[in-house]
Amino acid sequence: MKRVAIAGAGIGGLSAAARLAKRGYLVDVYEKNSVAGGKATERLVTTPAGRFRWDCGPSLLTMPHLLEELFAFCDERLEDHLTLHRIDTSCRYHWTDGTVIDENSSFWNLPPVRHYLDYARGLYELSAPAFLERAPRDWWKAFNADLLTHLKHLPKFMNLQSMAELNRSFFEDPHLCQIFDRFATYNGSSPFRTLSTFAIIPYVEAEFGAWYPEGGIARIPDALVNLARRQGVRFHFNHEVTDLDDLEADVRLCNGDIITAHQKWLPESVAGHDMLNHDLACSGWIMLLGLKKRFPRLEHHNILFSDHYRQEFDDIFSRRRLPAEPTIYIASTSKHPKSTDAPEGCENWFVMVNAPAVAPLERKGYEQVVFDRLRAFGVTLAPDDILHQESFSAEEFATRHNAWKGSLYGWASHSIATALFRPPMQHPHHQDLYFTGGTTHPGGGIPLVLLSGKIASDMIASDVPPL
Ligand SMILES: Cc1cc2nc3c(=O)[nH]c(=O)nc-3n(C[C@H](O)[C@H](O)[C@H](O)COP(=O)(O)OP(=O)(O)OC[C@H]3O[C@@H](n4cnc5c(N)ncnc54)[C@H](O)[C@@H]3O)c2cc1C
Repeated sequence: MKRVAIAGAGIGGLSAAARLAKRGYLVDVYEKNSVAGGKATERLVTTPAGRFRWDCGPSLLTMPHLLEELFAFCDERLEDHLTLHRIDTSCRYHWTDGTVIDENSSFWNLPPVRHYLDYARGLYELSAPAFLERAPRDWWKAFNADLLTHLKHLPKFMNLQSMAELNRSFFEDPHLCQIFDRFATYNGSSPFRTLSTFAIIPYVEAEFGAWYPEGGIARIPDALVNLARRQGVRFHFNHEVTDLDDLEADVRLCNGDIITAHQKWLPESVAGHDMLNHDLACSGWIMLLGLKKRFPRLEHHNILFSDHYRQEFDDIFSRRRLPAEPTIYIASTSKHPKSTDAPEGCENWFVMVNAPAVAPLERKGYEQVVFDRLRAFGVTLAPDDILHQESFSAEEFATRHNAWKGSLYGWASHSIATALFRPPMQHPHHQDLYFTGGTTHPGGGIPLVLLSGKIASDMIASDVPPL
């Protein structure tokens, strides 16, 4: 049997591990932390009022069929291991002018929104088979009669408008523009700098819905570790790989941050220098709050928008500081009827502000900036309401997950090159070294890293058959 050594048990690494073991490889996963899941981690805290739980990374799942497909590949059924609930309102958007918009089926059916989604569907139908679901080296294999019918959408990929410009060509209402601008942050980019092709992101959310796994997002890596173990994968926790050349195997697969890998774990690599010549995707400033109060005006997922959105992205990407007037994301899983993440009468808030990838990041006193901003929306938190409060930022992502400068997705998609070509999944000089995860192809976010693991497994199976 051929041996595969995987550095990192993030969702991409786990997706690849289960598939490779199923294909007949002997797979060892080396993970620097004591648990799997990487950025999809959770936090549990017991207060005098009871136990709180927070997902500390991803909070929203879409494209659940990719999880189903992974389990089916291993001859199992996802529903035997994970219960997923579709959320009717995937996000509630708030503005200081009092406007509140719920992202639900009525929203997606508004005529201008439908028109936008029709445009974006073409982008998805062409890019999914040719780009998202396969290695760039194999793009030509996507050609078939079905794909030919979608080639008419190719000019949309030549549209060099920014996402913000595209949105303004579809919507007159500034609130709608801001909602659709915000999807650029799903891959850590600025809507004013990223290409209009990323209109795919809202299309995916509209088409495949927003989902909540019972018990929290952290149950996804739990289910994947168990799946991988049943396929024979061996896990080695608390084992940090400091030199990828030390991994003794026929094939090495790195699920850690690809920029960090080229800078630190491949000392003789020459490819590393190119890695640093691009904008980094943003990091996050996170605050976990355990609250002794309920907030009926808030939904499970909420965005409280900045009044000065462009300035916010200038702060992050040009001035490289925390936004003076942030857009605030609040996710509270305790709002879900199936949740036990907060004691009775309490809420667990995961508060996130987009932050520059600069580790360590100067963030002294930023909690107060956020509390003041919440007050502008009529959300007031008295000290007595707070049972638990902690915050962390780029430094935590850098130290805990080895994310380069704390960037959540490696490169931002701010140029044609970085929007269309992610760092390659196979090392140009070390042919037995592959990469998978959110910093390589096809990109970040749970669905794309599940695909990344699948693509890595396909590449390895084609280059180095298991027996
Ligand atoms: C705050 C936040 C919010 C997010 N929100 C969403 C969301 O709502 N929806 C969504 O779909 N996605 C979201 N994402 C993105 C999503 O979480 C990631 O893209 C995805 O989980 C990354 O998976 P990955 O396979 O790249 O691995 P990672 O999660 O990056 O994990 C890599 C693993 O490798 C390990 N490792 C690193 N270096 C080494 C080494 N040298 N040796 C051994 N092990 C090593 C790390 O410890 C880690 O466990 C969010 C991310 C964050 C941080």
